[in-house]
Amino acid sequence: MRKILIIEDEESVRENILDLLEAEDFETLGAANGKIGVHLAISEVPDLILCDMMMPELDGCGVLTVLRQDPMTATIPFIFLTAKSAKSDFRRGMDLGADDYITKPFTRAELLSAIMNRLEKHATLKRYFSPQTAIHNLSPKMQLLQISLHRAIKQQKFQEFEIYYQPIVDIASGKIVAAESLLRWQSPELGIIYPTEFIPLAESTGLIIPIGKWVLKRVCEQLKSWRNLGIFSLNIAVNLSVIEFNQQDFIQEIINFIETNELQAECLELEITESMILQDVNSAVVTMNKLRTLGVKIAIDDFGTGYSSLIYLKSLPINTLKIDRYFIHNVATDPQKSAITKALIQMAHNLNLNVVAEGVETEAELAFLHQHNCNFMQGFLFSRPLPAVEFENLLLTNKCLYV
Ligand SMILES: [Mg+2]
Repeated sequence: MRKILIIEDEESVRENILDLLEAEDFETLGAANGKIGVHLAISEVPDLILCDMMMPELDGCGVLTVLRQDPMTATIPFIFLTAKSAKSDFRRGMDLGADDYITKPFTRAELLSAIMNRLEKHATLKRYFSPQTAIHNLSPKMQLLQISLHRAIKQQKFQEFEIYYQPIVDIASGKIVAAESLLRWQSPELGIIYPTEFIPLAESTGLIIPIGKWVLKRVCEQLKSWRNLGIFSLNIAVNLSVIEFNQQDFIQEIINFIETNELQAECLELEITESMILQDVNSAVVTMNKLRTLGVKIAIDDFGTGYSSLIYLKSLPINTLKIDRYFIHNVATDPQKSAITKALIQMAHNLNLNVVAEGVETEAELAFLHQHNCNFMQGFLFSRPLPAVEFENLLLTNKCLYV
């Protein structure tokens, strides 16, 4: 049975909603003010929260702000109940990351439709990430991983995390033009943990939100300090998770980080995957258009491994296509891979997109990419991902692909 928390100070309204939802077989919890609401949200972790915007002391925006900061409650669907007149309040609520709002007085149908929409969307997200990661199905190592990750975030131990930078090189000139930022976690209990191990866990638990935010913040600060060293024409790519991408306050966060660090939005490129877009194409396009309006670049990551539907690319506001390492490995000698890679490069160029080849490891692969006009390469042939200081050394010594 799905559990809904109603935070509403007006008793008659609250009781009405509780009755209505109980009649629809929801499990319900009622809170008469914001403080009790926050407490219940944390202790009960409901499936959805309905919250009045206007309440004395801790109001709806205050409640949402607190809940979005706690990984356990950050992804619970949150619907505001607002008065018709309070348009600016409503805007503020949505900017804080509310999922929806209903204006009072509302009909039973309006309320139920808003609730069902949100629950369904959330269930889709969850299904996407968690079947294999629900804690009771986890191996002892993964359980320990989950506990350690939760502790690190809860206690704000971000010093356990470090961002590595893998250079992206212009194939024609051989010069470093960008880097992909990659997260490493040095857990005191478990040693070095790679993103492939902890990111799915972070996604299924909502911990990805504070982690992702920290990564973006650190990358922007790092870009600023490199600018201070005189390094201007450097782009940094950041991998996004679907949950971050769908957070309502995500765009505002990006704006804040860019402004705080006085950056050009163009030096930030966000990497998203095909599946993230296809999950909800319309809303993905809205978010991508907002990013593009800011000037932030967008890359499609690991291209070719997902749905490989090339036609939809035409209508997407993207700058870059990153060809998955699978196609690049032995590309020069495997006739199928070379045919696909050639076609991908050509198609991307026809759509005015830049192409990055991922996972380039041999001279033969590089020569093939060079011959077929691939724009950029990334891979062990040039450099593995490096700690910031080591990457900085490559930049300052002008390390080049060709000697
Ligand atoms: Mg990537």
